[in-house]
Amino acid sequence: MTTALFARHALLPGGWQRDVLLEWDAHGDLTRVAPGAAASSEVRQAHYVLPGMVNLHSHAFQRAIGGLTEIAGDGPDSFWTWRDLMYRFAARITPEQIEAIAAQLFAECLRHGYTSVCEFHYLQRDVDGGSYARPAEMAERVAAAGAATGMGLTLLPVLYSHAGFGEQPLKPAQARFRTNVDEVLGIVEALGPLRNGQLEVGAAPHSLRAATIDQIRALASGLPPDRPLHIHIAEQQGEVQQCLDHVGRRPVEYLMDHVALDARWCLVHATHLDEAETAALARSGAVAGLCPTTEANLGDGLFPLAPFIEAGGRFGIGSDSHVSQSPVEELRWLEYGQRLLHQQRNVAHTRAQRHVGDYLWRAALEGGAHAAGRRVGLLEAGRRADLLVLDDAHPNLDGVNEAEVLGRVVFCGNDNLVRDVLCGGRWVVEDGRHVAQEEIARRYRQALRDLRAVTS
Ligand code: ZN
Repeated sequence: MTTALFARHALLPGGWQRDVLLEWDAHGDLTRVAPGAAASSEVRQAHYVLPGMVNLHSHAFQRAIGGLTEIAGDGPDSFWTWRDLMYRFAARITPEQIEAIAAQLFAECLRHGYTSVCEFHYLQRDVDGGSYARPAEMAERVAAAGAATGMGLTLLPVLYSHAGFGEQPLKPAQARFRTNVDEVLGIVEALGPLRNGQLEVGAAPHSLRAATIDQIRALASGLPPDRPLHIHIAEQQGEVQQCLDHVGRRPVEYLMDHVALDARWCLVHATHLDEAETAALARSGAVAGLCPTTEANLGDGLFPLAPFIEAGGRFGIGSDSHVSQSPVEELRWLEYGQRLLHQQRNVAHTRAQRHVGDYLWRAALEGGAHAAGRRVGLLEAGRRADLLVLDDAHPNLDGVNEAEVLGRVVFCGNDNLVRDVLCGGRWVVEDGRHVAQEEIARRYRQALRDLRAVTS
């Protein structure tokens, strides 16, 4: 097994460095990252090397409905009409099928440069709403897909008790999602033996709609203190209005009134913030989990990125509903949404980092690593050996200097410039193909055929 790589140019914590020797151990941890090393014919060589990206928000099963909800209805379509179709699919997926769908998704994500996924996992009960004999069955299947593909995972079993603000009872279509605090903590415990360098377990109250503030506090205090907590928040204006109607506070404001937000928290979407919430969220150290392609697909709105960066806020990216499996597309949309909104160029940057591609890649890694609660996001000793070798023979990268690499990767063209991927010390993508791509795709196609037969 190869346990070293020599990179002509590698993006290290302090910036681009030349002639970098990277070594890792049998556990998949980097043991040495040494710039200015001498090339050796015994060590595999690469030209441009980046740390692998963190995908901080995923619902793996939704990969199966990508592209199926793009038909206009009679009235204006919205998040809520999309959710109806998602529920119909979710009602039928079996453990075997979620494993096949997640494996396909993770292989695609790895090919495009994600080496970590945070799985916000709410499909936990059997098709009839009863508990599986093993209550963590569905989460274990997602973990199996992670192990089979080599993807690093943070599993987030979801607390989902209500259909809306004011403790509304769940609808029949939500029966598979139903959990209380004790059940979620039980699943977290059941998943404990799976924890290793490639897999962490946190938890996620689904939203302020689906969990009360008392439940959220109980879950946060019942979870071991070093584990990540994620929550959907302020995704649609309708949700902000419902929160105002019920508790007289905006969602982020209300959460911060009752929960000590810090770096262990990831607030997914956080789209609709007022100025005070933007500044307070930035100050808290919690990560804003931005999912630009899904937020665009669902017509959610745009996050106040410029003031959040100005206030020193921390953010990362997620592919959420998986209309895209590419970090390039998330980062490009994140920036382009802001350009269209403000009629201005090069929005995402700081005075210290004016290269927008570099700023976006590194900021999303920093936030993503916090959200994942795993030792990822930087190429340095002690972190996971998660890295991308770019295709230096592609015309977009041929002969470019290192300061131009991420500008080209993020903003130029549609070819996937990720050639090889090392994840947790395993080469899982070689020459643009996942090492088990055919078998994974075969099982996925079969799962989809079976699902279509029962949902159409
Ligand atoms: Zn989500």
